[in-house]
Amino acid sequence: MDNRGHVYLDYAATTPLDARVLQAMLPYFSENFGNPSSIHYWGQMAEAALEQARQTVATVMNARSDEILFTSCGTESDNLALRGAAFFEKQVRGANHILISPVEHHAVSQTATQLAEAFGFQLEYLSVDEFGQVDPEEVRSSIRKETAIVSVVYANNEIGTINPIAEIGAICQEKDIPFHTDAVQAAAHLPMDVRRDHVDLLAIGAHKFYGPKGIGALYVRQGMELLPAQTGGKQEKNLRAGTHNIPYIVGMAEALRLTSIELHERSVRLTELRDYLISGVLLRIPRVRLTGHPTNRLPNHASFVFEGVDGNALLMLLDQAGFACSSGSACRVGMPKPSEVLTAIGYSSIWALGSLRVTLGSGTTREQIDEFLEMLPEKIEQVRKISTD
Ligand SMILES: *Cc1c(COP(=O)(O)O)cnc(C)c1O
Repeated sequence: MDNRGHVYLDYAATTPLDARVLQAMLPYFSENFGNPSSIHYWGQMAEAALEQARQTVATVMNARSDEILFTSCGTESDNLALRGAAFFEKQVRGANHILISPVEHHAVSQTATQLAEAFGFQLEYLSVDEFGQVDPEEVRSSIRKETAIVSVVYANNEIGTINPIAEIGAICQEKDIPFHTDAVQAAAHLPMDVRRDHVDLLAIGAHKFYGPKGIGALYVRQGMELLPAQTGGKQEKNLRAGTHNIPYIVGMAEALRLTSIELHERSVRLTELRDYLISGVLLRIPRVRLTGHPTNRLPNHASFVFEGVDGNALLMLLDQAGFACSSGSACRVGMPKPSEVLTAIGYSSIWALGSLRVTLGSGTTREQIDEFLEMLPEKIEQVRKISTD
């Protein structure tokens, strides 16, 4: 495949596999192919790789290795956290209340909706400010004795805003209510520390930080109990049955280790490019707003709304011009409904339908941003014309 003439600016949707990660994975597809549940030599080799990977992930998160569960993706981790905690808390103490933010990824919000609609849980939404941030004091006043789980996204995938997770975590801990955070987007850019943040459950997915797709992890604080998501064998402390995907687990651990080492350097470089992009867009385009927090946002993340623009038409024009961007969540392509996140932070349809997310990463250069800024005004004008014709 020849990518010349195409510029990738959609690192929040997924990232390319780091070449060093691929190298670390390769032996586990060939000579080291064993099942870690087997007793023999091959099993022991695989088991050693599995536990080494678990230790690596735990170290990066400041957790203990027996607090890390491997899953198939960020989505599965979110599902296991919410459903597992909700069912367990209901079983042992009759808790039937779920508290989430209105800016959760669908992996959380749809799971919570199903728990409400099919299993009788009472689902309550916190409010957010104009930047999409949750107020910890509102968490305090909304928690009830019968709250089974609180879930607040660490950093939003659509608008990049970072939430005050440590403060929310401290309040949940004080009230002794399980707290989950979806850190799938955050883990690529922010130092994770489950002790500092007082979280009970934290979800990550490898393909957002230059690891392979199809592998994720869930931190489960020691003492926190869940109802298993997948029953069968005894893998992952009986919580997630199924033969381990060793090459991918090894790949995720290596990608996360590299991320933790290079985090600062990557963040400094991307923040500068991001701010250059944001000020360029705000300067060149009329009737535009930056969505999400202006500074307390992911270092690689720029997101906008343009008044009177069809966001999907814009994405297609940008793609034709060689720029791969997104309108927020990759899952929403082709749906002419304003995003729930943009609605929650107060944008009307005329603005919210014209959303654009530009997310930067390892391959992004200043020249690419310059080309992007050069091309964008004309495309916006073009789409605005179509919309009013
Ligand atoms: C990508 C993403 C997910 C889903 O993760 P997968 O590994 O793709 O299943 C969940 N939450 C957030 C915030 C994300 O950005």
